[in-house]
This record gives sequence, structure tokens and C-alpha cells, in this order.
Amino acid sequence: MLVSPTQEFRFRKSEPRLSASRVVFALAASDRPIIITIDGPAGTGKSTVARQLAGRLGLDFLDTGAMYRAAAAIALDRGLDLSDPAALIAAVQDADLRFDWSQDPPSLLAWNRPIDQRLRDADVTSVVSPIAGIAALRRLMVEKQRQIGAEHRRLVSEGRDQGSVVFPDASVKFYLDASPEVRAFRRAQQLRRSGMEYDAEQVLEEIVARDRSDSTRPDGPLVCPSDALRVDTSSIPFEGVVDELERLVRARVNVD
Ligand code: C5P
Repeated sequence: MLVSPTQEFRFRKSEPRLSASRVVFALAASDRPIIITIDGPAGTGKSTVARQLAGRLGLDFLDTGAMYRAAAAIALDRGLDLSDPAALIAAVQDADLRFDWSQDPPSLLAWNRPIDQRLRDADVTSVVSPIAGIAALRRLMVEKQRQIGAEHRRLVSEGRDQGSVVFPDASVKFYLDASPEVRAFRRAQQLRRSGMEYDAEQVLEEIVARDRSDSTRPDGPLVCPSDALRVDTSSIPFEGVVDELERLVRARVNVD
């Protein structure tokens, strides 16, 4: 079992002969960042679960899918030629993508304007995976996400490569999974709730195609890191998943 930073500090403090180096170690330990990563395919409820988990634990919440969706929206809205990654990278850099952390969930800004409303549109969803496969774009996003991790030292970060690539030393790593049929059903429910038209078979086909594209790309493919806790959400309601993740985190890390 891991010794939490606070316990470690208390233990050291009560030792009769406490060396200066041990005090430094104990203080450094109490300042350790807490990063929880949640990866997994589309439709496992990662965003909802990550956001609720962050709220319960008093951590910030980072939706990295939104960043790739923003790049896709920029490419579409500017009519960029995707065979030229340099134009996309230049536009994404110019947009100066950043989150407004005063909003809950944090709002994503491009050119200083919120673009959250555009990110879930069907045209964005249909092109985001191949765009997210562009190596230079991934390098840029990984750098931005690590920068956010350095500034927000108590963070739940959700995506495809957060535990495998971006934060390999995360405090706790999760991989959420569910069968493609269950994920397609959930996505269809989401679309129905937001009043959008959909074809159930097409939703399933898109989910399967996005899984394939996300897991077969050479850079930052969707994988379950070997040290991640895998949770199958197929038959558990979101609340139950959040309860379980909270229990697993609290058993490993002192978040208070
Ligand atoms: O999670 P969400 O469905 O919003 O992600 C949209 C797309 O962004 C994914 O299908 C994937 O192609 C890409 N993505 C990624 N790496 C991440 C997060 C998302 O490649 N860390």
C-alpha cells in the first residue's frame, strides 16, 4: 500500500531524531502533484465521469478531446487543406487555444472566444479522429496538456493517451471500457436528448470506425496502459462508476 504524503509527514515529524534531509523529503512529498488519468474509447462516459470525479475530489478537470475537436473545427471553418499539416498547426497556434478555468466545466477559447458550442457538431465528430492522428498536432497538444498539468497540480485528465503518453507518472490511471453496442446506445441517447436526428446503425458504425482509427494510429494510439485500472462500464450506471473510481483513488492517494 502507498503511504500518503500527509501520513509520511506525520510519521517523520514524530520521529525523535529527524534529519534535515528527511524534513526536506517530507515537505517535498506533501507538495506532490495529484494527476488522475482516465482514458478509453468514445461513449464510455469518460467526460461525465471525469468531471464528477474531479468535483468530488476537489480537483480540476481537463477534457483533452475538446482540444482535438477544436483543431478539427478550426480546420473545417477555415477550409484548411488537411494534406498540409503546417497550415493546421499555424492556425491552431494562432488561435492560442486555452481554457477559461473560471467556468464549470472549463470553457475552451480560440482567438479569445468560447468555442464549446461548435465542438460536438456532427461534421467535427466525423473528421476529428484523422486530424488527431497528425503527428505534429499531437506534439503540440501533448505539450499544452503537460503545461496545464504543471499549472494545475490537482487534475483529472481525460482522453485517449493521458496515462500512456502525456502523464506516464500519474498518481492513478484508469481505463474505461464498454461494448461498442452499449457505447452506441449511450451516444444515441445523448443525441436524442439534445434534439439531434440520428440513425442508430450509423452511430454504431461511426463508433467502431473511430475506435479503429484511434487505436491504430502510430502516435498516441488508444491503449490501456499496463499500470491502469480497467473498469468496464457496460452494466454500471455513471453514478456507480464515479463511486467506484472515487473509492479506488481514495484508497491510493491522500487527496485532502
Ligand atoms: O473524447 P472525445 O470523443 O471528445 O475525443 C474526440 C477525438 O479526439 C477522439 O476520437 C480522438 O480521435 C481524439 N483524441 C485524441 N487524444 C486525446 C483525446 C481525444 O486523439 N487525448
